[in-house]
Amino acid sequence: MPLPKPQKTLSFAESSYLVEVIKGMVLTMGHLVKNIIDQDRFRTVEYPDVRKPMTARYRGAHRLTVRPDGHVKCVACMCCPTVCPAKCITIIAGEDPSDPAEKFPVEFDIDMLRCIYCGFCVEACPKDAIRMDTKIYEINAYTRQDMVHNKSYMINLMDGLKPEAEDVYRHDPAAAPAGYTSDEEPVA
Ligand code: SF4
Ligand code: SF4
Repeated sequence: MPLPKPQKTLSFAESSYLVEVIKGMVLTMGHLVKNIIDQDRFRTVEYPDVRKPMTARYRGAHRLTVRPDGHVKCVACMCCPTVCPAKCITIIAGEDPSDPAEKFPVEFDIDMLRCIYCGFCVEACPKDAIRMDTKIYEINAYTRQDMVHNKSYMINLMDGLKPEAEDVYRHDPAAAPAGYTSDEEPVA
């Protein structure tokens, strides 16, 4: 077995770290001066007054879509909980009294603490009943239970019950998904 090589002996300048500290400070000051001269280099977004524009492909919080008659489009086919890799969708199916041929979700919960935003549920849905086009990235709550988004929350997400949604699209109406309406004036 070869013997380990002896460690290099540090010079006085290296062992005092002074040179390295000065090099670090010069680098930091260089960036500071460049940032002051060229303000576009700043990466800080003054959230929430300024919002970072999301790309068109950004997946926000889930919403459930409804038919023109107001019924939820979901027919509780169970495709989305089946494909969900995080197993965070829970659906309790029931018979639709207005249409015995169809089922509907009596309960539809998504545990957002487990969701990995893969979008498989949206891809798998045969009814276009679930979408991730809200561009809402403020997905937060004070309790774990509140991080479970339920059916009524996801249906009403774009109807002003979630202030973040209103706020996002009032600032950027062009980014709003089809069907979004707001009573409030867009912010210029
Ligand atoms: S985005 Fe992915 S992880 Fe989240 S609920 Fe849909 S399928 Fe599950
Ligand atoms: S949201 Fe779509 S895929 Fe999921 S249960 Fe409802 S109809 Fe099926």
